[in-house]
Amino acid sequence: MEIKLTRRVSGIAESATLAISAKAKILKAEGRDVVNFGVGEPDFNTPDYIIEAAIKAMREGKTKYTPASGIPELKKAIVENRKLAVGVEYSPSQVVIGTGAKQPLYNAVAALAEEGDEVIVPSPYWVTYPELAKYCGAKSVFVETKPENGYKMTAAELEKAITPRTKLLILNSPNNPTGAVYSREELSAIADVVLKHDGIFVLSDEIYRDLVYGGKKHVSIASLGEEIKSRTIIIDGMSKSYAMTGWRIGWAIAPEKIAAAMTRAQSHMTSNVNSVAQYASLEGLTNREKSDEFIAGMRKTFDSRRLAAVKILENHGAKFIMPEGAFYIFVDVSVTYGKPTRGGNKIENSAGFANALLNEKEVAVVPGSAFGADNYIRISYAIDESALKKGIEKLCVFIEETAE
Ligand code: PLP
Repeated sequence: MEIKLTRRVSGIAESATLAISAKAKILKAEGRDVVNFGVGEPDFNTPDYIIEAAIKAMREGKTKYTPASGIPELKKAIVENRKLAVGVEYSPSQVVIGTGAKQPLYNAVAALAEEGDEVIVPSPYWVTYPELAKYCGAKSVFVETKPENGYKMTAAELEKAITPRTKLLILNSPNNPTGAVYSREELSAIADVVLKHDGIFVLSDEIYRDLVYGGKKHVSIASLGEEIKSRTIIIDGMSKSYAMTGWRIGWAIAPEKIAAAMTRAQSHMTSNVNSVAQYASLEGLTNREKSDEFIAGMRKTFDSRRLAAVKILENHGAKFIMPEGAFYIFVDVSVTYGKPTRGGNKIENSAGFANALLNEKEVAVVPGSAFGADNYIRISYAIDESALKKGIEKLCVFIEETAE
């Protein structure tokens, strides 16, 4: 019997980030010395005091169901943390804690967009956004950002993309994959456009907010006034700032009506996220002294790697987007397109580049096509600095040899 899948799931692509990592792992298992730039998570362990809190929670029997949207203590800690970090006040009832940042992202799109609706996605974008829109039956409207604007969408570009069907704008600052960070002025101009149009909400993915470098500061669009705050859903979580990707704790902070709808949906889909991971996260958010020190240390390490990587790319004259946040560098490899490699491959696009680079130089990168930018590949500097330097050297030599 032929298995007939629904339109909803048939259109969903596999995550390219995970696919390249899987291939790199296979080569590693074969004994090859692969530099894996595909990773999207800090190469730090979760700090010990957070792990201890999880063990304590288990011993104390905090192993039962919790309210679907999360334990009240964690919601309170989340709003306090937000107030301290970005100066915006919320009520704990506006918080919905879910499985990583991904589930709240999905819940938010599902709450606001459906068939016939449009979701504005500045490009390059994080792989998951268009897939979420598709899953909800909505159409992604991509706004191609420009180098002269630091790969950030301008207010004028947003205005042009808005139609009567627009329901949602997805903003991601600091950005994956470009590392771009929106300034207060840029966000303020975007907020003005949003507020001119009834019925449009901003989904502001701020998961990398603690990882900003070079004296820049993260600004949340919700901090720019009560009106835009009432039109914004914040997405945040423990994954990147606290090196807790595997614990799967993220959250949305949304206007009450949206938060209630998201909670209702989640109560049937998954109920609460793992109770022990919630208590561990509570320790992370409330033990401020230790967490500030941990995050500052991680930021310093990432920054030093960022500068080391940028230096090698510059020395080789490579074309790339100067990253200001997160832990990625987006490198333009289009000079190699249409050319044969020394290993006998012909490169036609970013996927072909990534494959040839992995096979010939044992360096794994993510093709830019996954982020809507086929001239690029993404590298992650969440890896050890000596491997990083070696991998970037190999990448640059591969580009030079092929482009010759
Ligand atoms: N948002 C962005 C921009 C990301 O890069 C990621 C993870 O790579 C997420 C959200 C998902 O985070 P989580 O692992 O907490 O679901």
